[in-house]
Amino acid sequence: MKSTEFKTWMDSIERMSRNQRDKLRKRLEGKENTDEVIALIERNQDDKPACPYCKTSNLYRWGKASELQRYRCRQCNRTFNALTGTPLARLRHKDKWYEYEQTMIQGLSIRKSSDSCGIAKNTSFKWRHRFLQGSRLEDTIC
Ligand SMILES: [Zn+2]
Repeated sequence: MKSTEFKTWMDSIERMSRNQRDKLRKRLEGKENTDEVIALIERNQDDKPACPYCKTSNLYRWGKASELQRYRCRQCNRTFNALTGTPLARLRHKDKWYEYEQTMIQGLSIRKSSDSCGIAKNTSFKWRHRFLQGSRLEDTIC
């Protein structure tokens, strides 16, 4: 975003209602949480990771998907990211992963975890099993 554009946007905060500012704050918090999870996921990745399908490192960067760097393998032509082949592949709402993990550490039930994080009970059930497969978020990913 251009700095002039950003300034205009920032000035518009003054005209927002309290309710609108609350929404903005929540959105920013969610974005921050997502950034942290992404940083955690990509932290220990090599510059040139290996293809999870054919194990070669002959790849190129292939844009981003779900905010993660995506790669394309030159050998088998398939695309992947740091989570491909892990229990956390294809799960959505990364902004809530960290909070969800905390509820698991606290020993909350599936229902209580879903209430606490504001996710559906079915999602909570799926996450519980996927997260357990990968022990801790930090370990899974690396
Ligand atoms: Zn490959």
